Amino acid sequence: MKKIVLLTALLATAAIAHDKIDDRTKKNMHGIHGDLQALITRSYQVCPSFTVIDGLRTIEEQKEYYAKGTTTTLKSKHLTGHAFDFIPNPLDWNDINSFKTVGECIKTVAERMSIPIQWGGDWKNFKDYPHIELKGY
Ligand SMILES: [Zn+2]
Repeated sequence: MKKIVLLTALLATAAIAHDKIDDRTKKNMHGIHGDLQALITRSYQVCPSFTVIDGLRTIEEQKEYYAKGTTTTLKSKHLTGHAFDFIPNPLDWNDINSFKTVGECIKTVAERMSIPIQWGGDWKNFKDYPHIELKGY
C-alpha cells in the first residue's frame, strides 16, 4: 500500500516537472510558427530559466514600439509570427551576460533541431538581445 502511494506521488511530481512553461510564455507562444513553439518547449527543458515576453504582434503594437524606439522597423518578423522575445530569470536588463547565456543556449538547441534561427544579440548594428527569429522568411 505504501509503495503505491509513493509511486503515485512520484508520477504526480513528474507530471508537474514536464509542464513548467509559465502562463506568460504560453500566451506569447500562441500564433507563432510551429518551429519556434517547438524550440521554446525544448529550450525550456534544457536552458537556464527564461520567459517569453512577446511573440505575435499586430501592426498597431508594432507602430507603438516604433514610436517608443523599442524597435527600428515596421516590417518586423513579429508581425508574421516568425519571432519571439525572451527575458532571462531573474531579470536584470543591465546584465547582458544573462541574455547571452540564454540566447546561446537557444541557438544550440535550434541547431540540434535543425531550425534555422537568428539571435538579435548577434546583429552588428542594433543589438536586440531578447530577440529570436526564424531565418528564411
Ligand atoms: Zn523581437
